[in-house]
Parts: sequence; structure tokens; C-alpha cells
Amino acid sequence: MEIHWSNILETQPIVSKMVMNSIQKNRISHAYLFTGDKGTGKLTLAQLFAMSIFCQKRTSGEPCYQCRDCKRIKSGNHPDLHMIYPDGASIKKEQILHLQKEFTYTGLESNKKVYIISQADKMTDNASNRLLKFLEEPSQQTTAILLTENSQSILSTIRSRCQILSFKPLQPKQLEEKLQEEGLSLANARLLTAVTNNWNEAMEKSKDTWFAQARKLVVQLVDMLQHNPNEVPIFVHTQWMPHFKERIQLQEGLDLLLFWFRDIVHYHLDETSELVFVQHREKIEDASMAWSIIHAADYLQHIMHAKRKLEQNVHPQLVVEQLTLQIQR
Ligand SMILES: [Zn+2]
Repeated sequence: MEIHWSNILETQPIVSKMVMNSIQKNRISHAYLFTGDKGTGKLTLAQLFAMSIFCQKRTSGEPCYQCRDCKRIKSGNHPDLHMIYPDGASIKKEQILHLQKEFTYTGLESNKKVYIISQADKMTDNASNRLLKFLEEPSQQTTAILLTENSQSILSTIRSRCQILSFKPLQPKQLEEKLQEEGLSLANARLLTAVTNNWNEAMEKSKDTWFAQARKLVVQLVDMLQHNPNEVPIFVHTQWMPHFKERIQLQEGLDLLLFWFRDIVHYHLDETSELVFVQHREKIEDASMAWSIIHAADYLQHIMHAKRKLEQNVHPQLVVEQLTLQIQR
């Protein structure tokens, strides 16, 4: 991956400016906690930060990317930059002890030392306590950068010693692109981005057969509502309800239904680039012949209302039966 300030400045303007500022003003803290979803650029910024700390030819806050220090950080083998990743499921005390030992020697090239702990929330209790001791005796020249997707799982005593930088969630378009880079089709990436703004959740759902079936049922239901409304009650009873057993699952099903009718509204408004169900463009087109924009907007209201009734503990099957009757009207 290309590491460059301009990339991260664009996606994470606030945190990258904060980091750059502290370098320029020479006010680097002893410890940082970078918190944010996967894919938001925490590791990239941490590596850039390290580069700027070590680079001998830095101009204002930006490293040169060319010198020996920069090149070695890029290739992952700078002697005074240490990376810690979970060893299996967790980060163990021995890994922190090892780091501490390394740090008792002065830097090989300069006196500066930086360590980055990836998925810092995976530290065992012993590892956390060890790290805390280490943070309590800071050396002038040492900078710790902890990365996490879940800052609440970090010991509060560690958190309080860190400057916390919160990374913005990915914008939908960025998430959509990243999911496609992972090999997902545009249709899948688009739908998952509508469902969540979290990379991990999107990847999990992309492999989830329950979700795939849910999506199929939604397409079947709207098809039936449009073409064979008489069969809807049986479909709801025999296929829809058995799949959406839990309230939370049914909420998800109704969300997908909501996207479908929102697509019809977008279609009417000539905003086809906004479609969520991109692979069903013809069906959306067909449906927008049958249902005017006013109908579709009305149905959106009914679906929202159904979702609220579910929250208020109305019987799920009743909610769906009422909703499907309202949509046929
Ligand atoms: Zn450099």
C-alpha cells in the first residue's frame, strides 16, 4: 500500500492534521491511542507518524519518503520501530516484556524509539498491566502508538495515559470501494454499505448465508406484492416469518424492504446512481411503472411505522401482515 500524507489527509483530515501539527511543533506525546473501525487508516497514519519522527530530511511535518529511515519503515525493517501484533488470539505479557527489554538499549541509529501495538484491545490482563508499568516510566525519546477498533476494551488506566485520536468511520463510497477491492461485486458492496458502515460487519455479512437468503426473500416478496398479491399471506406465513424469527432479524428484513422502495423513489427521480439493488435495476424499473412516487413514499412511511411497532413489542407476524396489506392497497 502506498503510504503518503495526501492520502490520509483526504480521508482522515482531523487526526492527520493533529499528528502533523504535533510533529511540526515538536510536541510529541509519549503515548497515543488511535481508535476507529477497520479500514479507516490507523496503521497507515501510525507508520507515517513514525516516518516523520525518524526522517532526517523532513520538511515541516512531512517525511521525505526517500531517505534510509523512510525506506526502512516502508519495507518494515527499521531497527528502532517495533510492531506488535496479536500472537494467535491475544497479545501476551511476554511480547510486552520483550519490547521493554529491547527498549532498555539506546536506539541503534538515534535515541528515538517508536512502538506500534496493533489491536491493542487484544492484550491479556497481564500484558496490559505490564504495558501500564512501561507507560508509567516514559522516556523522553519513546513514542507508543496503540491501535484499536474497540477503545472501551482498553484498560482505562492505559487510556488515560494516551492522547486519544478518533478516526472517522469510512464514508459509504470509500467502504463500497474497499469492499470491491476485497473481491465483492458492486451489487454486494452497494447493498452491504447500505446496511452498515463498518468494514468487519460488511465482510461478515457478505459470507453469511442467512443474509443472502434474507435478501432473496425481500426480492420475492416485492415481486409477489406487485404481481401475485393473493399469494402474499401464505408466503409470509410459510417463508418470510420462519426466516426472520427474531425481532432483530425482522428489523433487518424490513430495512432491506425499505431500501427497495427507496430505490423506486430514486428511480422516479432519475437518481439511478443511488440505487442499492443495482443488480435488480429492471425489477425496480418495472415496479416504478406499477407504483407512483407517491405510492412508494407512502410505503416507506408504512415500513418505518412497522419498524416502530416491532420496537413496541407488537406481535411480529401481525406487523408484517398489516404492512403487506397496506402495500397492496
Ligand atoms: Zn525521510
